Amino acid sequence: MRCSDLQYDIDYDLIVDSIVDNGARRVVIQLPDGLKQYSHSIYKCIEGRLPRWVDVYIHADPNYGACDLQYGQLWATLKPDLIIHIGHSPYPKELAHPGLEPRGSGLKVVYVPALSRTKISEEMISEAARLLKQHGVKRAAVTTTSQHVHMIKQVADVLRKYGIEPVVPRGIKPYFHDAQIIGCDYRLPYSSKAEGFLYIGGGVFHPLGLYLATLKPVVKTDPYEGKSVDLTSEGEKLYRSRLYTVMKAMDADNWGVIVGLKTGQYRPWLVERLKKQIIEAGKNYMLIASENLTRESLTSIDSDWYDAFIVTSCPRLPTDDYWDYHKPVLTPGEAYMALKRVLEPYRFPW
Ligand code: SF4
Repeated sequence: MRCSDLQYDIDYDLIVDSIVDNGARRVVIQLPDGLKQYSHSIYKCIEGRLPRWVDVYIHADPNYGACDLQYGQLWATLKPDLIIHIGHSPYPKELAHPGLEPRGSGLKVVYVPALSRTKISEEMISEAARLLKQHGVKRAAVTTTSQHVHMIKQVADVLRKYGIEPVVPRGIKPYFHDAQIIGCDYRLPYSSKAEGFLYIGGGVFHPLGLYLATLKPVVKTDPYEGKSVDLTSEGEKLYRSRLYTVMKAMDADNWGVIVGLKTGQYRPWLVERLKKQIIEAGKNYMLIASENLTRESLTSIDSDWYDAFIVTSCPRLPTDDYWDYHKPVLTPGEAYMALKRVLEPYRFPW
């Protein structure tokens, strides 16, 4: 496969320059799971330009985002000089715990964008405009993930042509490009004060999170499926089920607080805040440390003592993975609601 045949535009010069300029000898390349299949092709695209003493490792373990660099384990064993993290922008420092890099290691992380080569047609955007208008939306913010940020202008221009005033939320450097969201940070669209949202990308993970964060109409334009879909009613259904879970948790006396061990998911500031709220509500807590929370690990730690759980690592675990657990599993925002015994406003995710 030629480098130009990959389904993503990847800045190979940035990868090679980062390795050479940093004098790196041991390099780890990390990719989201969906891009791992291209890892050998990506290596072949840079191999001939690297000094012969450079060892490149492809990181095969699951990688869920820039919150998941795993440099703790990497530094304990491989001791790389450089991590090339492809497909995500840096994780916002204010959501994590700064200063977790191994002290004195000199380990550097370089973020390399992977831009999707999929295309969006005018017909798809006009359909999105029609769906937004059905909700009475006249002013819509455009949102997307880092893989489609180069499509924003095209989509905004065509939306305007079909009678929707587009808003492109301003990015936050170095974490977010204009209009960019991640599964646990919707500050950009939230602050846009738009009446609804057009999301560019595949799947429902990001757009349903966008609905929970804003409770406003969300239409997805999916370049992989080649169509636009209204996700508002699906979002509303998810929101109702979350409210039900919060209601069930209001009577919980004993809480398990899951503390994340991944580098970007360790949030002691949040754990402290929740501990205080639990004590103020006259309830009890047990701290549970976990790197990869699975249904098996949650089930094995669960006992009669626990009435509910709060996940402070990835706030999408409660909404996407444990929504059907037999006890309430809440995001930090939802736990705040349950402990304060309020159902409004809905807080997502923090
Ligand atoms: S949603 Fe979860 S996996 Fe995604 S960036 Fe946030 S914490 Fe990481």
